[in-house]
Amino acid sequence: MNDCIFCKIIEGVIPVKKKIFEDDMVFAFEDINPQAPVHILIIPKKHISGLDSVKREDIEILGHIQIVASKIAEDMNLKEGYRLLTNNGIDAGQTVAHLHYHLLGGRTFAWPPG
Ligand code: 5GP
Ligand code: ZN
Repeated sequence: MNDCIFCKIIEGVIPVKKKIFEDDMVFAFEDINPQAPVHILIIPKKHISGLDSVKREDIEILGHIQIVASKIAEDMNLKEGYRLLTNNGIDAGQTVAHLHYHLLGGRTFAWPPG
């Protein structure tokens, strides 16, 4: 059995506090440990372990995630801006090995990031 927590969230085995969006390709839900007033995770339904593992055939999923992120940001009224990011690998702080994009908003963000 797949031991991935995000696959289990997609399957409904692990509940989420708030589902934000779902279609045949992606699932979006609130992060359990929010780092901003808005902190949503957008994940592909296909198990991809991280950006390192994406293939040419995943191009539609990757593009779709960005369109979905933009739509969620609009729905959440993040007019002042937002940040969309993915952490890949240990140095970046990736803790879950299922590709996920953080959509963060509702406050000002520093650059460069910590
Ligand atoms: P990473 O550090 O890999 O970039 O991000 C993983 C994110 O997943 C973290 O922000 C963490 O709070 C979130 N997370 C981990 N487990 C769960 C969970 O079971 N439910 C939800 N909603 N978020 C989770
Ligand atoms: Zn997975």
